Amino acid sequence: MSELLQLKGTFSYDEYKLILEALKRKKTTFDDALKGEFIILRHDVEFNIDRAQKMGAIDKEYGIKSTFFFQVISSAYNPFSVKNKAKILSLIEMGHSVGLHFYISHVPTNNFEKLEYEFTQQKKMFESGLELPCKIFSFHRPPPWVLEIRKDYLFGALNAYGPSFFEYTPTPKTIKYISDSNHKWRYGHPLDNLEFSKMQILAHPDEWSKEKNLTELEFLKSLVDESRRDYISTVDEELKSFAPYRDKIL
Ligand SMILES: [Zn+2]
Repeated sequence: MSELLQLKGTFSYDEYKLILEALKRKKTTFDDALKGEFIILRHDVEFNIDRAQKMGAIDKEYGIKSTFFFQVISSAYNPFSVKNKAKILSLIEMGHSVGLHFYISHVPTNNFEKLEYEFTQQKKMFESGLELPCKIFSFHRPPPWVLEIRKDYLFGALNAYGPSFFEYTPTPKTIKYISDSNHKWRYGHPLDNLEFSKMQILAHPDEWSKEKNLTELEFLKSLVDESRRDYISTVDEELKSFAPYRDKIL
């Protein structure tokens, strides 16, 4: 059995590295993609900044520049904490780009005014909190009315779902879109679609780990456990009375 067949769908770093092998000589950033053929590597970060940093380090090992998108109003993480901000900025030092993962689930359908207002607000938070310009963004869970806005530049920033990077159709002719959402290659595997001269791969760092044989339950548990440990260490640092109980809570 080929290595790919064995690893396909494990969402392990070994599977990820096989994909990176194929990307090594490709144009992988959104800026490159405006100039010709590409395989964009995009990372939306939903839960775990440590896993984003790890994935950034692997991309760098392969000499690949990718783009990470962070939420600014998420309940799962605070990108502006001293620790998290340092981790996000380390991605820039690795040569990657960082943009806004634009949360819009509370924006009513077809309310373009509210959409623009939200963008302005979240952009301000991003720029003041991370001290980085917000030049690019990806929508988080974009509904059809949002995907139907076919513009590369929206609200003064580059839109990851713009027509140069994403074809809004279930049967793309030119630009293949691939995503690992919910631990599934729902639009096919990147390595099975290399005949496309243009491709956008969305790999959520949260979904990947070094483990090759995790069940769905074990994968979800690992994600929750990591976040729990992070929370516990924050309480431990801030609350003196926590120490005697720490081990019982862990
Ligand atoms: Zn998202």
